[in-house]
Amino acid sequence: MFKRETSIEIQHHHDVQCALGKVAIQGFGMSVYSFFVDGLLIDTGSYSLAKEFQSFFNDLPIEQIALTHSHEDHAGNAAWLQQQRDVPIYLHLDSIQLCAKDGDYPLYRQALWGERPAFMAQPISTTLQSNTAVWDVIETPGHTTDHLAFYNRQTGAMFTGDLYIQTKTKVVLDEENIVHTLASLKKLVNYDFKEVYCCHAGYLADGREQILNKIAYIEEMEENVHQLFKQGYSVEEMTKSIFPRDYPITKVSGEQWSSKHIITAFINHFKQGSLT
Ligand SMILES: [Zn+2]
Repeated sequence: MFKRETSIEIQHHHDVQCALGKVAIQGFGMSVYSFFVDGLLIDTGSYSLAKEFQSFFNDLPIEQIALTHSHEDHAGNAAWLQQQRDVPIYLHLDSIQLCAKDGDYPLYRQALWGERPAFMAQPISTTLQSNTAVWDVIETPGHTTDHLAFYNRQTGAMFTGDLYIQTKTKVVLDEENIVHTLASLKKLVNYDFKEVYCCHAGYLADGREQILNKIAYIEEMEENVHQLFKQGYSVEEMTKSIFPRDYPITKVSGEQWSSKHIITAFINHFKQGSLT
């Protein structure tokens, strides 16, 4: 058996309450945020932090819940909230059936994040209305195909789920498509915002700048992969050349997290481009 260390910390930025949940197993730690603003809860944290997040939710007048995507560290406490609060939970149409059943994730993810108990979500529309604000619901596939960002038209705050996470992405999940991530980041900067609320990096006062930096980073990487691709290198050779370091998560996850998935997505993109 393993021992989990867990904690939660509540931060306030403008009108947003930010709950930072932390979980660690044998020195390997991760954190995830849930946000509350204007009656709206954005993401629910992980089930491994159920007690911690429940203590946050208990004090809140939650009227509705919106999920950026169905991953277990975002939707882990949706079932509990549904039982306790009976408020609508909005999610991308494509993930409603999936979430009506208990999550089925590999062991290393269950160890860290816990289960994702089943809940009944409703399909989200292109806008959301909270007490005092209208929100744009922005389709931002890449990290997952069902990924959404939420933009508060009144305050200009941008909630980006797992679209950003960090500027210099080096490993991604096998279901992530970095080409789509890049397109979604570019779509986002069409909106008028400065501040970003990211589910893993938290509140970013200079979020727009960081997103622009990430776009530049991915574009540079794409160019590097393109050069190697034209010279006929294999996926393994390109991965070694562009990402020389080994990341522990790659081994732990049996390559579900890997730099290789970044290279593969670019190559598929180049191949499609040469066909059209
Ligand atoms: Zn995710």
